[in-house]
Amino acid sequence: MPELTSVRVSVSPIEKFREFLATKGMRLTREREIIVNEVFSSHEHFEPDQLVARVTRRDDAQRVSRSTVYRTLSSLEEAGLLRKVARGEHGDVYEHDYGYPQHDHLICQKCGDLIEFHNKAISKLLDEIADEHNFRMSSHRLEVYGTCDNCLRRPRRRHQKLDMV
Ligand SMILES: [Zn+2]
Ligand SMILES: [Zn+2]
Repeated sequence: MPELTSVRVSVSPIEKFREFLATKGMRLTREREIIVNEVFSSHEHFEPDQLVARVTRRDDAQRVSRSTVYRTLSSLEEAGLLRKVARGEHGDVYEHDYGYPQHDHLICQKCGDLIEFHNKAISKLLDEIADEHNFRMSSHRLEVYGTCDNCLRRPRRRHQKLDMV
């Protein structure tokens, strides 16, 4: 996956999350802090259960439950720190939506692989479309579904056999 350069942000994810929780009358508990630290330790897309596994492996996280991880993920999404990308039958994955530039995804329906891309012509086209409708665009998301290069190269007969098992 080609790495997009990260965007400089003045407020850390932890601080931004703390502010969001405060508006809901909630506190940044030790558990929530551990989860946010783990989420922002790498940019890779992740499935909720992969995060549960990562959090449980931490020395300081013995008492963070699976349901706490799931609830915190929803809050992080609501706070604008994470965004969810739908992969159909491969399940949803989360990725950073804070401190990371606007980009779109090619999503392989066979293996669930995600390819990130940024294309200036698409942004320009969307600006034009929004202008035509006198629409003030704040952001966009574009998810393109299909088959990735790896899956296209895989011998078809073998692939069909595997599918039937
Ligand atoms: Zn694929
Ligand atoms: Zn992405």
